[in-house]
Amino acid sequence: MRRTVVTLIALMLLLFSVSCSTTNERMAVSEADTAGLETGECNLPSSLEITAIDIGQGDATLVASPESLLLVDCGETSWNSHKGADKVDSVIKTKYGENCNVIDYVIITHMHLDHVGYVGNGGIWDLVNNKGYVIREKTLLRNYEDNVGTADGTYEKWRAHLESPEGSSRLEPVTASLGSSQVDMGYVGQEKIDVRIVAVDGRTASRPGGARPEILGDHRRDKYPPSENDYSLGFVISLGNFQMFFGGDMDGEDQRGPSFKYHDVESFVAHEVGDVEILRVNHHGSSHSTNHRFVQFLRPEVSIISAGDSNTYGHPSQKVLNRLKEARSEVYLTERGDPSRDIGSATVAGDVEIVVSPDGSSFTVEDKQYFSMPP
Ligand SMILES: [Zn+2]
Repeated sequence: MRRTVVTLIALMLLLFSVSCSTTNERMAVSEADTAGLETGECNLPSSLEITAIDIGQGDATLVASPESLLLVDCGETSWNSHKGADKVDSVIKTKYGENCNVIDYVIITHMHLDHVGYVGNGGIWDLVNNKGYVIREKTLLRNYEDNVGTADGTYEKWRAHLESPEGSSRLEPVTASLGSSQVDMGYVGQEKIDVRIVAVDGRTASRPGGARPEILGDHRRDKYPPSENDYSLGFVISLGNFQMFFGGDMDGEDQRGPSFKYHDVESFVAHEVGDVEILRVNHHGSSHSTNHRFVQFLRPEVSIISAGDSNTYGHPSQKVLNRLKEARSEVYLTERGDPSRDIGSATVAGDVEIVVSPDGSSFTVEDKQYFSMPP
């Protein structure tokens, strides 16, 4: 009996010490992992810098402040490509240092390939899973779980990934909500940078019940479901009098396509936004977006269109180019786009670089100076 007790105690001690050492080893490994991942500090700029990155037919914009880095979309031109992510990675390393691999915030405007890439291959998945980027704060997304329109393969793959333990721990996904509380980019001197979300799934602050209630809910079984574009997040980044609008591929008309429907979200959002200095033109300059009312309300001094050379969508459309010209907005293109378009005096710039003065009173686009108007 006595021997049995002694043996049992010895066995317990042995088990305890084994489990302790395993725990310690695990802790050591996880600390080393974290330390390895977080060594990549970035040399951030002294003011607000925005780069519309040329990734071909798609969107990727980098916003850097003295305190943080925000990536808005990282698209790909085909499902098995990671060229968009390669380009974004090279811009981050060139501008903010070879070791820079910490992104504070990611905003995914909507779940289309040309904005988010394909899980397992490119886009934001590739940045985080293959290129070692760490998302320090969160990834903001539309409410893709409750509101579903044209759910394609990109959407379904991302949905499954975001709900998996790996996707949720690496991306820290959070559903976007209206207002300025979710993204804190800090200050430039005494001036606070504001990131104000004005549209989520067609909802806007002035119509909290839903600007377009017909796009809310699950429409996967509809004959003509709402376009994924309709759900795009819209937001305004401000510093002093400087304001820039982003709206993904938000639509500006009610129209039925071959297998889906577009809804005019822009007309509601226009009221929330008002005058801006820069418009990141919705939907690559598509004829379904940037409606007359939207341009009248926003009156952008500068408009930036991200479209690929010789794309098959006819982006940017002549109608939108003409409308921006009428509004005396200076247009910068990442690539020339559809060669049949008359782009007038627009500048084809590749990556479009914007630097805002510390108080927001002026800004440069590709080194040309502009002055901000009081809102
Ligand atoms: Zn797009």
